Amino acid sequence: MQSCVKTAPGKVEMLDIPMPTPGPGEIVVKTTMATVCGSDMHFLDDIPTELIIPLYPSMAGFLAGLPGLPMGHEGVGIVHAVGEGVTRFQPGDRVCSSCLTGCGKCLQCHTGDYGICTGGGRCLFGTEGEYFVVPFADINVAKVPDEVSDEHAILATDIMSTGFGAIERAEMKTGDSVAIFAQGPLGLCATAGARARGAGLVITVESVPERIEASKKLGANVVINPQEKDPVSEIMSLTNGRGADVTVEAVGLQATFDGATRAVRRGGTVSSIGVYGALPQLSMSTVAPSFYHRKVVMTFCPSGYDRLNHLFDIIRYGKVDLSALFTHRMKLSQTPEAYELFRERREGVLKIALTP
Ligand SMILES: [Zn+2]
Ligand SMILES: [Zn+2]
Repeated sequence: MQSCVKTAPGKVEMLDIPMPTPGPGEIVVKTTMATVCGSDMHFLDDIPTELIIPLYPSMAGFLAGLPGLPMGHEGVGIVHAVGEGVTRFQPGDRVCSSCLTGCGKCLQCHTGDYGICTGGGRCLFGTEGEYFVVPFADINVAKVPDEVSDEHAILATDIMSTGFGAIERAEMKTGDSVAIFAQGPLGLCATAGARARGAGLVITVESVPERIEASKKLGANVVINPQEKDPVSEIMSLTNGRGADVTVEAVGLQATFDGATRAVRRGGTVSSIGVYGALPQLSMSTVAPSFYHRKVVMTFCPSGYDRLNHLFDIIRYGKVDLSALFTHRMKLSQTPEAYELFRERREGVLKIALTP
């Protein structure tokens, strides 16, 4: 079967790799949609493939005999084959899996934090192929309701969950002011999440014209262009000199984290969801204007089938519409071109729907 494989740092190509077979607890899914994500770029450019097994020891068997790292962790599809012990699925079911999978047994999984599993769960790999494997399927996979499109389901597997999670884990209250730094796909999901949860004033920070437009569409009242104005002083003046109740860092840079820590009100919450990738350390201002007393929350994609079901319900009953995120459609066989487009941020790209 064809799969997009990382064969060298920064390089992906479509290759024929062996068809996966499901081990115990696993399912094999026939891909109906995949997409490229900012985290894929970290796996491609910053994180050496040799580090994948130390990071996720359960990947050793998965990678054995493959010519490289099968790429992609966001995917939707139809169950093709079911491994021993899987009880919730059968071939033909339309499903997706959280991009981070949990084992269901470790301490973190028991507290509902499947995305930071220490019991053998891992990031999915290989969704940018004709078929992909999901471990611990009964824990991590949900059937997709008919009213939820592949586009929405695939967002629920990662960036919608993370973006909405930024707002939930900040415990944003109805009417709170929220300022979100960066409106790439992830930041846009945080904007939609703040609006869906009942934010008051939503301020976003972005300079790319297409992203500014998408931000307004998804719920921002004010978009600050950092090339024209200083975001922190603008947020201060828009919030009567107090700072926002909640600030969100959504790209993974020191500069935007710094902005988020300085634009939050005294006692407010800084919520960080950007993936800092190769950045080994973050520093944080401990002085005015936000003063010392504040919460800092960092979030990895909230995962597991119940999480997916909640997101599906807010899509179909809460009428959350994230379709503005899909700016491009390409064939799965064009995934390497999709990476180039995404990396160079050409043509106002946000999400690229890749279909067989
Ligand atoms: Zn992702
Ligand atoms: Zn676990």
